[in-house]
Amino acid sequence: SAHRTVVLITGANKGIGRAAAEQLAALGMTVLMGARDPRRGEEAAAAVRAAGGDAHALTLDVTDAATIADAAKWIEERFGHLDVLVNNAAITGSGQVSPQDAVDQIPSTVDLDMVRAVFETNVFGVIALTNAMLPLLRRSSAPRIVNVSSGGGSLAISANPEGPLTDLPASAAYSPSKTALNALTVQYANELRKDGVLVNAAAPGYVATDINNHSGFLTPAQGAAVLVQLATLDAEGPTGGFFSAEGPVPW
Ligand code: NDP
Repeated sequence: SAHRTVVLITGANKGIGRAAAEQLAALGMTVLMGARDPRRGEEAAAAVRAAGGDAHALTLDVTDAATIADAAKWIEERFGHLDVLVNNAAITGSGQVSPQDAVDQIPSTVDLDMVRAVFETNVFGVIALTNAMLPLLRRSSAPRIVNVSSGGGSLAISANPEGPLTDLPASAAYSPSKTALNALTVQYANELRKDGVLVNAAAPGYVATDINNHSGFLTPAQGAAVLVQLATLDAEGPTGGFFSAEGPVPW
């Protein structure tokens, strides 16, 4: 087990993160399944183990510095390094409502505290966790970071009047949080290029999960495919890119 690739996925108790955990475990990786609710995390990890995978639940709320520090300490003690970080956890700020349908995302009337909460999880949580894990990632022979973004975070798509998303209501919270995550992806990739850390953003597509009240048309397994691709890049793989399962996504 010392030679297994060790991957940490945030928000792995359900949805796309859980499907990514299942797929990476099936590839033989040791999968650390982050969940802010320990009971839901343990249930999900037990299911992956029952399918033959090497999975461990890890209590991790990306907005809680103490759980981040505890997680880094546990990984250090148990494995001494981390190979892959998948920053998957996110919220829309709209509860169980599709970000595409949520009237409370509309810029002119948005609740600023909701915007703050969304950025706290989707953006600042990624910085906090990534920086806590970087010392462990630097000890990997093939470190990879996957930031789970969204096509809704693409300025190229949303600023194009003929683009596919322009008939959707505007969003001041969720979509801009993913645009900021994309910007961070480029900045981390540039800083870490010399260290061989490949950092990319993933667009899973429109996936049926709790985040959109299961209105998506892809399965979590289909949505997780691009996360798995970017988590398993070889040394010649890209860094500082934005990809869906079909290929590059415009920024
Ligand atoms: P889900 O709502 O099913 O899963 C989100 C996960 O994030 C849950 O495990 C949730 O935990 C966790 N989470 C939320 N806040 C925190 C936090 N503060 N700390 C730790 N974990 C947290 O949604 P998806 O699986 O659909 O979303 C996964 C990723 O894919 C997100 O980044 C999302 O933005 C992105 N995405 C999804 C799309 C889709 O169509 N579904 C489209 C584009 C992007 P809990 O169970 O405790 O709430």
